[in-house]
Amino acid sequence: MAGYREGVAGLDIHGLQKLTLLDYPGRVACTVFLEGCDFRCPFCHNGELVEGTAPAALDDRALLSFLSKRRGLLDGVCITGGEPLLRPDLEPLLSAIKELGFLVKLDTNGTHPERLRSLVEGGAVDYVAMDIKNSPERYGETAGVPGLDLSPIRESAALLLSGAADYEFRTTVVKEFHDEESFRAIGPWLAGARRYYLQSFVDRDTVLRPGLHPCSRFELDAFIRLLRAWIPAAELRGD
Ligand code: SF4
Repeated sequence: MAGYREGVAGLDIHGLQKLTLLDYPGRVACTVFLEGCDFRCPFCHNGELVEGTAPAALDDRALLSFLSKRRGLLDGVCITGGEPLLRPDLEPLLSAIKELGFLVKLDTNGTHPERLRSLVEGGAVDYVAMDIKNSPERYGETAGVPGLDLSPIRESAALLLSGAADYEFRTTVVKEFHDEESFRAIGPWLAGARRYYLQSFVDRDTVLRPGLHPCSRFELDAFIRLLRAWIPAAELRGD
């Protein structure tokens, strides 16, 4: 925690899952939730976080105190949201987490490529999981932001494709938004990606827009087969 001065970040943490074997591939980790998001994906499960109506669960000092007691028990810390990169002051907290000896995984929707680049190049992040919401044609609709400018998303994806950090791309597949045309457009865009996971939408009471549906296993397998023409590493997650 050396170098993390009182009040430098002052970040409220809106949720802490103390143990996860799923969120950080191949690692035992905890997951930290930060509020606020610039998207409104209709299939999002985290409405309270996105809208900023969830009460803070703890602050950054309490998080670091928790982590200092988990050294040797956890490998890594997943930072998720919401959209964590909405916080311009994330770097001191991530650096403090790394100083405690943890790996850091960052989840992002890709809307802040300059902040992503800064964290990656500064060594504050070990693994990035970036959402790819859909084909460029249906991106805004799927992110709940009609008319969305895709330039920042493309820039973040290009940064990861360049190998600047270890990474994965992932898409939550929803029947109302995704079809073969979606993946015919995403395939060439992310050609050669190191990892690309499709994960099936799961309905819950907290979904932003009720009434959405998952695709069938048959459809998901067909999307994976299609993607592998460009991305041999494409896989279905949650198999
Ligand atoms: S799914 Fe992710 S990017 Fe979309 S609204 Fe929810 S937190 Fe934001």
